Amino acid sequence: MTGHAPAGRDDDAARGHRADGHPGAQAPPAASSAGGSELITGIGELHTVDPARGADSVLTDAAVVVENGLIAWVGRASEAPAADRATDVEGRAVLPGWVDSHTHLVFAGDRGAEFAARMAGEAYAAGGIGVTTNATREAGDETLRGLVAGRVRDAVAGGTTYLETKTGYGLDVEQELRAARIAADAADEVTFLGAHLVPEGADPDDYVETVCGPMLQAVRPHVQWADVFCERGAFTPEQSRRVLEACRDAGLGLRVHGNQIGPGEGVALAVELGAASVDHCNFLSDEDVAALAGSATVATVLPACDLSTRAPLAPARKLLDAGATVAIASNCNPGTSYTTSMNFCVATAVLQMKLTVDEAIRAATLGGAKALRRDVSAPDRPAVGHLAVGTRADLHVLDAPAAVHLAYRPGMPLTWGVWRAGRREV
Ligand SMILES: [Zn+2]
Repeated sequence: MTGHAPAGRDDDAARGHRADGHPGAQAPPAASSAGGSELITGIGELHTVDPARGADSVLTDAAVVVENGLIAWVGRASEAPAADRATDVEGRAVLPGWVDSHTHLVFAGDRGAEFAARMAGEAYAAGGIGVTTNATREAGDETLRGLVAGRVRDAVAGGTTYLETKTGYGLDVEQELRAARIAADAADEVTFLGAHLVPEGADPDDYVETVCGPMLQAVRPHVQWADVFCERGAFTPEQSRRVLEACRDAGLGLRVHGNQIGPGEGVALAVELGAASVDHCNFLSDEDVAALAGSATVATVLPACDLSTRAPLAPARKLLDAGATVAIASNCNPGTSYTTSMNFCVATAVLQMKLTVDEAIRAATLGGAKALRRDVSAPDRPAVGHLAVGTRADLHVLDAPAAVHLAYRPGMPLTWGVWRAGRREV
C-alpha cells in the first residue's frame, strides 16, 4: 500500500449496502490492475480458508487490500487502511479462487456418443481414451492451442484461478511433447500422463519403457508432475510403480489416478511413494482410508466425474472424518467429466457427498493447493488456495451474500467477479 488518499471510494456504500441474494445486473469488470493498491470492500462474508485463523476463518463486514498481485491486508472493513483505489462488492460473499488440481484440457473431439451410450446403460471402461487420442493427434497445433485456451477461459469465468492440466492424449514421444508444450503455455501446473493408456497395438511393457525413457526425457523441461492411470484396463500396479519411480528419479512430483473403477493398489502405491495426491478414490478399503489419513497424500475427489460415469461417489465424508486431506477438482476431460465448473463440483460435494459448504469450499481451494503443494508461500511463489497476507490475490466474488448459495442455488450463475494474481479477469 502507498498510503495515498483512496480514489473513487464510497465509504457509506462500502459499509452499509448488502446484496439481497437476487441475481442482479452483472457489474462490468473494472479496468484491470493498473498498479498500486486496491481495496476491495463491502464483503458480506469473506471465506479466508486461512489455516492460521482456525475456526474463525470466515469474516463478516470484511475488506481485503490487494497490491502487486498479492494480498496485502485482510480484516474488518471498519479497520481497512487506505488504498489507491477501491471496489465495493456490495455485500457479496468472497472466497479464494478455485484451485482445480486435476484437469485434462489438451484434447480435440468429443465423446458425446459414448456418454449417451453410458446413460443408456453401458458401463464405463478405460478404453475410450483411445478415441480422444486419435482426434487429438489429428488436430493441428493452432487448433489444439485454441481449444485449450477456450477451456481455460471457461474455467476462469467460473471462478478458477489456479489450474493444473495434463498430457495423456498423445501417447507417443512427439505427441506427448506437443501436449506438454501446449499445456505449459496455458496452465499453472503441468502433469506428464504418458501412462494414461497403452496405445492400440503397442506391447504394454515396451510402452512403459518408452514412457520411462525417451518420452519422459522429451517432456521433462515442460512439466512439474507425473501421473499414472493405475487401473484395470490401463496400467498394473507393477507398471505404475515403474513409471512413478522413473519420474520421481527425474525430479518430478507424483500423482496417481487410482481406485476409480474398482478396488486396487493405487492408493497404497501413492502413499508409499509419497505422491502429492491420489485422485478418484471411488473404491477405498478401510486400510486405504487409514493410509490416506496417516499421510501427506491428498485424496482428490472428482464429483462431476462420478456423476458422469454413474459411479459410486468417492467417500469424501468418510475421508474427512478419518482425518485425510480432501481436494475437489473438476477432472475436465471429454470422456468422463466434460466440465470445468468448480461451482458445480462444490454443489455436488455438498448435496451428494454430504460435505458441509465450508468443507467443500476448503477442499476446492486449500485442498487443491495442498494437492499441488502450493499451499505454503516460497520466496518466489506465493501460496494459493487461501487468503492471508502474502498469498496470491486470487479472489472469487459470488453474486450472493453467503457462500451457502453455491449449494442452495445449484446451477445458477453465481460467479460475479474474479481476480487472478490481483488482476480482475471477470
Ligand atoms: Zn483424470
